[in-house]
Amino acid sequence: MSKTLVIGCGGVAQVVIRKMASHPEIFPEILIASRTVSKVDALIADIQNTVATAEGNTDVGVSVNAAIKGRLPALGSAQVDADNVDELITLMKSYEPFLCVNVALPYQDLTIMDACLACGVHYLDTANYEPRDEAHFEYSWQWAYRERFEAAGLCAVLGCGFDPGVTGVFSAYALKHYFDTIEYIDILDCNGGDHGYPFATNFNPEINIREVSARGSYWEDGHWVHTAPMEIKRVYDFDGVGEKDCYLLHHEEIESLALNIPGIKRIRFFMTFGQSYLTHLKCLENVGMTSIEPIDFGGQKIIPIEFLKAVLPDPATLGPRTKGKTNIGCIFKGFKDNKPVSYYIYNICDHEECYKEVKSQAISYTTGVPAMIGAMLMTKGIWNKPGVYNVEEFDPDPFMDELNKNGLPWIETFDPKFID
Ligand code: NDP
Repeated sequence: MSKTLVIGCGGVAQVVIRKMASHPEIFPEILIASRTVSKVDALIADIQNTVATAEGNTDVGVSVNAAIKGRLPALGSAQVDADNVDELITLMKSYEPFLCVNVALPYQDLTIMDACLACGVHYLDTANYEPRDEAHFEYSWQWAYRERFEAAGLCAVLGCGFDPGVTGVFSAYALKHYFDTIEYIDILDCNGGDHGYPFATNFNPEINIREVSARGSYWEDGHWVHTAPMEIKRVYDFDGVGEKDCYLLHHEEIESLALNIPGIKRIRFFMTFGQSYLTHLKCLENVGMTSIEPIDFGGQKIIPIEFLKAVLPDPATLGPRTKGKTNIGCIFKGFKDNKPVSYYIYNICDHEECYKEVKSQAISYTTGVPAMIGAMLMTKGIWNKPGVYNVEEFDPDPFMDELNKNGLPWIETFDPKFID
């Protein structure tokens, strides 16, 4: 029987675990290991209580429905510092998982990959490695593990959330079914949700603020074009949400898609931000609160952005307050049989529906569901080959089917409105 180790128990991890719990036939045994084990124990208790109280109630969501039939996986908890390879190795050697799903933070990617190699465990994550002391992320650090994973006969799937993740699967699907060549990709990530706070982030605040306050960049004609943070702004009318301001950001899937989509000329990534978010962010930046440089405070060293994270709302608590929808997808332009083709594929996700189903808002949901699907395909051997891969390097079709079955149905059109 296949055992799965999940590392982390934050906003995204909780969705991954609740969705895995609804598929005990694929994930019969799950060990959840995180820094704060009390959060893991509370989650397990809540999943089991939900089962108990949901007896006979059939309209409250996939995870509960599975549980009603008495089919929960065996769920266990453990404490681990995932920055420490030796601790991870001890944990993996005692539990002997088939797969490790890393939904802790990008800082832990390499230590967890090292432990997987040492223990013969397959690996999946949702965000590429980022050193703690440098606000910079790229795949080179993880791609450097390719030969070692190949030699060990192990598979590592990188960036299996929504973006990166589903955006790569959408790209592979578009190329497989509708294009001979894709020349242009615009990835549009819209969050039309409102949590009622003047300022809060929908996933880990430290990682989120590092990402959005960095310089923007896009890929064009074989090289990166850099912009000042938030320099390029567009307005787009999103299905299910309405008109929103979008800003060009650097984003990690641009790097892998530039390599994996042959003939690509340009890839850009746009994310929506409201004015209140941007005004608060600018103010926090101006006073130094987003800095990653340690400062002396009361006789000890603190890092301003880590302190800021401690005072901001925990994204895992936004679920019950968030209303509205997300719309995330990709617009493609290219050629099929020498004729021009345009194609837009996206998912619309409702924050309140997500909360009803798994007690999380849609950002954690849209990340956690694809991570669960990736883990499912790896466990079934459908997405599993030795080496280190980005999601667009696998057959997209089984993943696309599972999106429709697991709460993230997609919509496609061949007559999209473009972003200029
Ligand atoms: P959270 O901060 O909510 O959760 C992180 C979890 O990791 C917490 O449970 C935390 O423990 C645990 N953790 C942190 N450090 C360690 C450590 N050293 N050892 C063990 N556990 C640790 O983050 P999110 O759930 O919002 O994000 C999780 C991941 O998902 C991030 O990598 C993020 O970048 C990625 N992401 C990807 C997206 C995509 O679409 N691809 C979109 C959104 C997020 P503790 O409880 O003690 O804090």
